[in-house]
Formats: sequence, C-alpha cells, structure tokens
Amino acid sequence: MLKRYVFITIKINKKLFFSCILFICMICFFVTWKDEPLATVFHSSIRSKIVIDPGHGGIDGGTGENFGLLEKNINLKVSLKLKKSLIGKNFNVIMTRDKDVSLEEKSDIKASRYLKDLDARKSMINNNGDIFTSIHVDANPDSIKTRGVKIYYYPTSTESKRLAQSICTSINNTVYKSFLNMNNTKAVIVPDDFYVLRETQIPGVLIEIGFITNPEDRKLLRSEKYKAKIAQAICNGIVKYFKE
Ligand SMILES: [Zn+2]
Repeated sequence: MLKRYVFITIKINKKLFFSCILFICMICFFVTWKDEPLATVFHSSIRSKIVIDPGHGGIDGGTGENFGLLEKNINLKVSLKLKKSLIGKNFNVIMTRDKDVSLEEKSDIKASRYLKDLDARKSMINNNGDIFTSIHVDANPDSIKTRGVKIYYYPTSTESKRLAQSICTSINNTVYKSFLNMNNTKAVIVPDDFYVLRETQIPGVLIEIGFITNPEDRKLLRSEKYKAKIAQAICNGIVKYFKE
C-alpha cells in the first residue's frame, strides 16, 4: 500500500515537473522572440539564401564622379550593412562582391568587359540564391529635381513585384516617414527590363537608393545614418516578404 502511494506521488510529480519545464520553455521562447517576426523564427531553420549584388566595382565606378562620390562605394557600403542586418535575422547571405572589384574575370563568355561582369553576377545569383537584390545609385543630369528611391522588378515576375512592394512599403515607413519626416517624397516600384532582372531565374529587385544628381539625395547618400536606415529598411522588407 505504501509502495503504491509512493509510486503515484512520483508519477504525479514527474508530470508536474515536465509541465513546469514546458511552461518555462514557452515563456523563454516568447520573451526571446517577442520582437521578431514569426517568419524569421521559422526561417532560422529554413535559412533562405539572399544574394546581395552591389552594383559596379573596380574599374567601373558607376555614377557620381562629378560630385566627388562614386556609386560603386556607396553601393558596397549599403550592401555590407544590409548583409549584417540579414545575418542578424538568420538569413544566409551571398555577396556578388564584398570589396572594390569588378567581376568580368569570373565569366567565360566572349563579350565586352561590361557584359562579362553582368554575366558573372547573373550566374552567382542563379546558382546561389532564393531571392536577390541589386543595389545602385541613380542619376538624372537633365532633371536635378528628380529624387527618391526606386525599386525595379521584371514586369512578368509576380514574386519580384511582391518583393519590390514589400521593400517599398518598408522604405516609406522606416526612411521617409520615421527617419526623414517627409510626406511628399516616396519610394516607388517600377517594372523594367534591366539585364540583371531579365536574365535571372529567381525573384529579385534592383534598388536605386537615391539620385546623386539631386542635392538633397546627394547629402543623404553621403550620410552613414541614411545608408544604415536604407539597409535596415530593405532588410525589414525582405523579412516581411518571407512572412507573407
Ligand atoms: Zn548603377
């Protein structure tokens, strides 16, 4: 009788013990992840692969020479910040370049240096990623008033358009509304036929993070804070894209 009583007590206590452990685990989970989008939590196991493609590099400076700025350097800085943010959200990140180089040597095709460089980017994107984002800086010498962020996607790719929209909303909220307090300038999404959008087989966008020909945008492009905010906003847009 006594033996039986002891056995039941142990059995009940064991049940209680495991219930307590489960309860503590659940509390820990929600405290740790309360600020994280749930998709990021799930994707920590799936680990989606994001290819970041900083435009230009090496011999190809991109736009900006007339202003003592080079697009290639701005692209790389924002891309490295974006890489850091995405890794912080448990994504796998692959860079087409992580230093000041052009990529034509990585292509076997017989073509101009420019096309070989683009071909190398295309191969790296297709071979490594689930989605990609190319980072560039815009210029419009004919209209220095033109400013703002543009997010390009390939016209027939609905997934790319969804990604573009997600990043666009995030930039408008994080950068234009919260950081710059601007209501009349907004990021926009634009369908276009750029090589990197047309020739790649995974969803992706090309983001022009401002116009170097516009004085206000140029000031922002020089600012480390703006670069960090843009990178953070792109990262949040990508997280939201996977969440939906
Ligand atoms: Zn460019």
